[in-house]
Amino acid sequence: MTLALYNTLTRRVEPFAPLVPPRVTLYTCGPTVWNYAHIGNFRTFLFEDLLRRHLQYSGYDVFHIMNLTDVDDRTIKAAASAGKRLEEHTAPFVQAFFEDRDYLRIQPAHAYPRATQSVPAMIRLVDRLLERGIAYTGEDGSIYFAIARFSTYGRLSRLETRELKVGARVASDEYGKDDPRDFALWKKAEPADEQVGAAWDAPFGRGRPGWHLECSAMSLEQIGLCCRVETLDIHAGGVDLIFPHHEDEIAQSEAATGEPFARYWLHAEFLNVRGSKMSKRFGNFLTVRDLRDQGADAAAVRLLFWQTHYRKALDFTDEALAAAAAGVKRLGEFYERVRRETENPNGLPDGRGKRDGRLAELAARFETEFRAALDDDLNAPRACAALFQLVHDGNAALDAEAPGSEGGVALGVLDRALGVLDILPTTKTVEPAVVRWVEERIAARDKARKSKDFKAADRIRAELMAKGVEIEDTPSGTKWRLA
Ligand SMILES: [Zn+2]
Repeated sequence: MTLALYNTLTRRVEPFAPLVPPRVTLYTCGPTVWNYAHIGNFRTFLFEDLLRRHLQYSGYDVFHIMNLTDVDDRTIKAAASAGKRLEEHTAPFVQAFFEDRDYLRIQPAHAYPRATQSVPAMIRLVDRLLERGIAYTGEDGSIYFAIARFSTYGRLSRLETRELKVGARVASDEYGKDDPRDFALWKKAEPADEQVGAAWDAPFGRGRPGWHLECSAMSLEQIGLCCRVETLDIHAGGVDLIFPHHEDEIAQSEAATGEPFARYWLHAEFLNVRGSKMSKRFGNFLTVRDLRDQGADAAAVRLLFWQTHYRKALDFTDEALAAAAAGVKRLGEFYERVRRETENPNGLPDGRGKRDGRLAELAARFETEFRAALDDDLNAPRACAALFQLVHDGNAALDAEAPGSEGGVALGVLDRALGVLDILPTTKTVEPAVVRWVEERIAARDKARKSKDFKAADRIRAELMAKGVEIEDTPSGTKWRLA
């Protein structure tokens, strides 16, 4: 089986084939850095991380571009109300976005073009559209895209059944879904824009780019630079971006280049928190930093997200996060067990026979199922179910017999799969003073056991347990970890 993905453009699951294999160009709409991104935004970014990692696992050479929207209606408004210049207001949120990305183990994109640094490319794109007679200057001095002159407008969002109010215009980046009128490519500079430093000179008048224009210009510029093409293999984002944002990106790009803009359009569904849409009003608004401050392990957050297919709405609850945390702990213990018993195949004093076979067989079966699940439109819930089946059956196999050289085979399979899911629990860092105390207690327990004072040894174990330290006696000595 080969990779198949649901393409919003055709509303079908299609076999995936890039334009110039093995290279895959991937553009994902990035955050608008007016504020902290919330976990709904990060659901989309995590889905894109899974997509990218599975493409890499499948042997593709991915070039990933993510833009940063650092000028649009919202950033300007937020900067103005904070009494700051645009870049002064957005800089800490750009920094916060990168920190949140790293906390959630999202692989960095290869390019992060910023809107404010890509204005020349935007001006060139508007020029091209003006030359082709598809853009025009409105009486308010802004430049508009004439959707009546782009015959396939509405193809992505299936707008043909809706009423197109051709000739009317919107200057806002966020106009209503049922109001698909000509949209602004370039907005004439207003005093409010000048005040925060959000205005640039252009041959067609001083102003600033519209949000939709930004993504078209930045993606085309980046794939031109990296790969000398004008068509993306994959464009991804959240479902809320299909209309008008992605529809407008297609219109601007294809009207300018005459080439298909993107071959596959992928969209992640919404996220709810505790059963309802996230909102400050309901007190269920969550940012990634809230999760980090609450001590949530990124591995658990990732597993929780993988357990719902990206095209289904995800409900984020504290119970689901706790269950995912228990899951990654179990996975981490299994992984450590395989590694430990593989490293010391002869040192197991517990009477288990050592034999090659069972574990390697389970691992091979798992890898086939794992790949098939992700090839099937990134069915991560099924891939995770297969992984936890391996943990269950693998533990049973290890209870019966210690692994021989097959332990290495199983570890290889696990490492490859975890290179995609990346859900091994985060190792906790322990203060040196705690390490010294634990080691002193373990030494005292060893001494007690040697002199057959098992009561004292049990007491010390209980003392360690009370401090959250789990111990395990192995042939190479007593191992410990924080529970
Ligand atoms: Zn975009």
